[in-house]
Formats: sequence, C-alpha cells, structure tokens
Amino acid sequence: MDMKIVPTTCPYCGTGCGLNLVVKDGKVVSVAAWQRHPVNEGKLCPKGRYAHEFIHRPDRLTKPLIKKDGKFVEATWDEAYDLVAKKLKSFKPEEVMCLSSARVSNEENYLMQKFARTVIKTPHVDHCARLCHASTVVGLAGAFGSGAMTNDIGGIAESKCIFVLGSNTVEQHPLIGRKIVQAKQKGAKVICFDPRFTPTARLADLYASFYSGTDVALLNGLMQHIIKNGWEAKDYIATRTKDFEKVKAVVMKPEYSLDNVSRITGIAVKDLETAAEWFAKSPASCLCYSMGITQHTTGVDNVKSVANLLMLTGNVGKIGGGVNALRGQNNVQGACDMGALPNVYSGYQNVTLEPSQTKMKEAWGCEIAPGKVGYTVTDAINVLCDSPPKLKAIYIMGENPMVSDPDLHHVEKALKNLEFLVVQDIFLTETAQLADVVLPASCFAEKDGTQTSTERRVQRFRKAVNPPGDAKVDWQIICELAAKMGCAKQFPFKSAEEIFNEVAKVTPSYAGMSYARIEKPEALHWPCPTPEHPGTPVLHTQKFSHPDGLGVFTPIEFKPPAEVPDAEYPFILTTGRCIWQWHTGSMTRRSSSLEREEPESWLEINTEDAKALGIQNREVVRAITRRGEVKVAARVTPDIKRNEVFMPFHYAECAANTLTNNALDPTAKIPEFKACAVRVEKI
Ligand code: SF4
Repeated sequence: MDMKIVPTTCPYCGTGCGLNLVVKDGKVVSVAAWQRHPVNEGKLCPKGRYAHEFIHRPDRLTKPLIKKDGKFVEATWDEAYDLVAKKLKSFKPEEVMCLSSARVSNEENYLMQKFARTVIKTPHVDHCARLCHASTVVGLAGAFGSGAMTNDIGGIAESKCIFVLGSNTVEQHPLIGRKIVQAKQKGAKVICFDPRFTPTARLADLYASFYSGTDVALLNGLMQHIIKNGWEAKDYIATRTKDFEKVKAVVMKPEYSLDNVSRITGIAVKDLETAAEWFAKSPASCLCYSMGITQHTTGVDNVKSVANLLMLTGNVGKIGGGVNALRGQNNVQGACDMGALPNVYSGYQNVTLEPSQTKMKEAWGCEIAPGKVGYTVTDAINVLCDSPPKLKAIYIMGENPMVSDPDLHHVEKALKNLEFLVVQDIFLTETAQLADVVLPASCFAEKDGTQTSTERRVQRFRKAVNPPGDAKVDWQIICELAAKMGCAKQFPFKSAEEIFNEVAKVTPSYAGMSYARIEKPEALHWPCPTPEHPGTPVLHTQKFSHPDGLGVFTPIEFKPPAEVPDAEYPFILTTGRCIWQWHTGSMTRRSSSLEREEPESWLEINTEDAKALGIQNREVVRAITRRGEVKVAARVTPDIKRNEVFMPFHYAECAANTLTNNALDPTAKIPEFKACAVRVEKI
C-alpha cells in the first residue's frame, strides 16, 4: 500500500488552519490536524476535519463540456480552448469580464487578472470579495492606509477586552473563536452584540441583541460616552491621528446620546455604558468583525466607524488590540492582494495612476487594458440587464453567483443575457449549468500554490493527489488558453513557484517572499518587502500606512438600511452561515459528514413573533420580499431578536438570496445581504 501525509492549508475559512492530508493509493482518505501549525495548534473544526470528503466525489467534472442545442457534450481540451479563444476574441475587450475567485491560490488569482488585463485587455476583473469584505478594503484603507486586518490571530489571545460585532466567530472562524476563549481564560472581557444569541454570544461577559443595520448609531453612541467621560486616548489621538475634532463634532450630537442610541439599536443604556467603559479602559482592546459589519449599503461607513472607535481608544498598532476584520473564504485576502479587483493591480497599485500602468506594462512586456476602473461583480449583473447589455461574455473561475449573489431572479436574467459564458470549476454548479463551455479544474488537494489568510499570513497549498480524469490545475488552464490566444510569451509558467516569483517581483508587499521562505508553517505576514524582512504580524505599530503616517478619523452619520420594515413587509431578514456548511454548498453539500448535520435550510423566528403568526416549530412557511419568495421550515427560538428573521444562504433549492436586496454601498459596491424587509406567512 502506498501511503503519505501531505501538509497543506484548509480550503474553507480565512483562518488558514494547517491540516495534513492522509493519502493512500492515490486517494485522500482522511484529514489529520497539523500539530505544529501556529494558528490551529493541532485542532480543526468540523469543516477542516472533513475537508477530504468532496475530493473524490463521482460527480467531479473530469472533461471539458460544450453546450450544443441546450445540452452539454463532452469535448477535448483543444476543442474547448479553440471555441473559448474564438468567442472571446470576437468581442471588443470591454465587452468581456473575468471573475476570479477567493477559493483558488494566489498564483491563480494573479494569473486571472493578468489574463484579463493582457490577453483580453479588459479592465473588468473582480471576485467575490465584492460580496463579503469590499467595504473593509475601502474603509480600512481610508482610515489606516491599508485595507487589511491589522493584527495577527495569535494576538487575539493577548487581548484584555474583545468586542465581537457582526461576527459569529465561534461558528464561522472556529479556530479564531478558540483564541477568544484563551483570552477569556486569561481574564479578558468579551462583549458581543448580535441580533442572534449565537454560540459566540454564549461566550460573552456582556451580550445584547440589536437591530441589523444600526452599527453606526451604536458605535457613535459608544464614542460619545467615552468622550463625555474623558476616557479617550488623548496622547495617541494627538500624535498619531488627524481629524479627530470632525468626528467629535458628529458623535457628540444629541442623536447619539445613549438614550437615543438605545431606541435605534434596541440595546439597553446600561449595556451600552458597560461596553464603552470596558472597551475604553482595558489596556488592550480589539474588535472582531465580519460580514455583519460589511454587508450593508453603509458597509464602508460601518468599517470607518469601527476604525474611529479603535483610534479613539488608542488600540491600533499594539499586540492584543486592532481591527480584526475576519475574512470569509480561505484566500479572499490573497485574491485582493493579487489584484483580482477592478481598481488595482497586485499589491493595491492603482490602475488609474500612470506609474503603476507603466510598471505593469514593462513587467508584462505588452500593451495592457486601459488604466481605468472596471466593473465590479455587482456592476456586471446590473449592466447585463441594460438594453443592450454592456457586457457580452464572462469567464468565471470558481464562483457560483447563481447562489451567492443577491436577488437571484435578477442574477439569472443577467447571466442569460450573456452571449457567451465560460465557467471553470470542479463541479457542475448552478452557475456552470448556465454556461456555454465548462472547463474542469482542480481542488486544493490537487495543486501547489499559496494562500493568504485573514491575518495576512502567506502559506502553502501542497499537491497530494492528481486531478480526476482530464481535469487540470486552474493556473495551467489560464496559461494554455492564453497561449491559444497568442500570448504564450506572457504566460510561460511551468510551476506555481515560477508564478509566485513573478508576483514577488511586481508586488511590493510580497517582494521579500519566496517558496523557500514560506516553507515553514509559521510562513510570513505581509508586508514583507525584502528577503531579510521578518514579515509584519501587527500593522501600524509606529505609524499608519498613509504617506504622512497618520491615522484618519472620518465623521460618519447613521443611515438606516435601504429597505426598512413596513406594514406589508414587517420583519428584517438577515442572512448568514452555519458551522456545517460553506457558502454555496458546492463542496460541503457533497461532504456526507457535513451535509448529514444540516441538510436543509430554515428560517429562524422569535418565539413571540411565531406565536403571533400561529407558526409552529418546523412548520413550512412562506418568506416573501419585493424580489421573490421561498418556502422554508420555521425554526422557532427565543435566540433571535423580535421582528428579525434569519436564513442561511447555503441551499440552492431554498435560496435565501432569492429574497435579498441588491442595493449597494455607493463606494465599495457591496450588497446589503444583512438587512431587507420581509413578510412571513403561514401556508
Ligand atoms: Fe478550516 Fe476555518 Fe475550520 Fe480552520 S477554522 S479548520 S480554516 S474551516
């Protein structure tokens, strides 16, 4: 029997846990925790534990598929490449968009944006960070000069006060949740404000439920109370930041008195007072947030308000402090770093600035897409519904907008308006079913590469087994297609390491990295500008990343969500995830140990609200918004705020995103998944 152990990185959340794949006779048969890994220290959550179960599923894509007369027919790679190359060349560059993915490696994200900008010469490239943390990138870059989590995961265990806002950390980033437990065991106070009494809320020393979409009012109220009591970090504000007076002028307004904030948020005044005092007075306070903060029409405002609170209390740039923006997918940080965004090249080099354009043209040795900001994923769905549509073709790698994006009827109409859709994936997803050509790709266990976790730690994926059938590695597919389209010279790569070396050459924050340096599980946190640099676990320790070194306070006024409850739609719908499933379910729903635990969707509704509507636990009800309706089993519980309901978004057959609102944050263009108006009816 042939057996080996291959250390690699988990394919699910942004925590970036190390795991060992146990390979017998060319198959991954189980997963063991990686004992020496600095983040998970020998522990895994259920998704990591069962990360092998989807790899050898019989429904993996093994051959290219071409749609003929509405049905998929198997094809050779040459046939598929020839068709894709011919069709993509037949459109004007700006009629084509490329969607990259937070699920694939840094090398593959780098190549996809390079393919868009050098082969197609289109400025339209984006990926699913648009749906989860686009507001973090914009908001934190505005405040601190860098749009990433400021601290490392290990530092959370050193915090003395942890404020969890808009994150169910224990279920969604379980091994980061473990750091919160460790901090608590050392005496830290934990505050959790959430519309649902989640497993994270159960950990808290102070929990309060509040209404989705009221974060700015909440944060302004806390800041007013801190300033009124003189608890702000005066020296820090004076020496390290600017524009504090502008924020003070806003947060001291009567509308942000704790009485008024209590009315807006539903949190008792005494809980607001306690939270403000604990957070301001502890020697090291951090805030952990996730999509509860970002997925709003005020996503950027929410993030900037979080940054204001952290600077007000002097907690940015120290161990145990920081803004811990917990990224969702395993490589969403890396996909952003690699420039799979419409406004930046890798390393956040602005596409509209002439020096960046010249640098990339010289590095890539060819003409590139015009230096203007392209469409976001969310723009693309909208312009596809214009008449005539402004886009004609999309090349999607590893994304499933037919389940993940808001207002799915709108998404379906948009994708059906395309003249040509290519989807590269490992399963025939709901989106792949709409494609003209499907290219069979590889999963995390079938390729080498790197990923960058939520704490900016760049670490390795390692190949354990071959892809199934004729499936290929994503970076290889991009290189071969580029060659078919006459650009072999720009895509000469024979290994993932060669691609990484080019990334390091053109990306200042990765310049000091190499495969040799990240071989150890400790790996390296960016920025790592030189080969001798040790990496940067904590950002902004001496100065912020703006040219003048100062953090920027931004005054923010509270605005309600785009849709608020009314007589016709009296509840707020908020959506999210559960511990057993992952995003659109393409991997976890094919993992029997995970699917067995939560095989179907549900709608969580407060016990009193259910009683008023005559709804019993497990009764199938109808949830209706202005965009659509679904039938779903009610889960009656006291653990959700009255007048709010919750649905997970993993289940295509009962898709929560049929209901959600595609209203966007005006800057980050992130949709408001976390709050829309809904009616719940007995059937
Ligand atoms: Fe994987 Fe995240 Fe679980 Fe770690 S916490 S095992 S990275 S899903």
